[in-house]
Amino acid sequence: MGGTSGKDQDVVLAEITKMLSDGLKTQVEPFPDSAQEFAKVLDELRALEPDDLKGRLVIGGFVDHPYGPGDQRCQECIYFLVHKKWCDLPELSVPVEPDWWCRLWKI
Ligand code: SF4
Repeated sequence: MGGTSGKDQDVVLAEITKMLSDGLKTQVEPFPDSAQEFAKVLDELRALEPDDLKGRLVIGGFVDHPYGPGDQRCQECIYFLVHKKWCDLPELSVPVEPDWWCRLWKI
């Protein structure tokens, strides 16, 4: 389960929720418009320590609300596992709420 190191998913979700509501500054820009730019963000994520949860949020550009054109959300993203409330992009592998967003968003 990625970098969550066996920690309970609810605990990790609560940690992320807190960091985001405390105003963690994340890299929402630039949005990767091409496959190359997308791959570059993934490379940055892979370079992190496996347990660097905050690093993943920062590089991923996480926000705890809809974002961008048309108010994009995890809910509509191809990586969102609706029944688990989970981001299944291997480089992220984190619990997420349906109305959050990150810059790896994809439909
Ligand atoms: S890739 Fe980003 S937008 Fe998509 S489900 Fe994961 S965290 Fe949400």
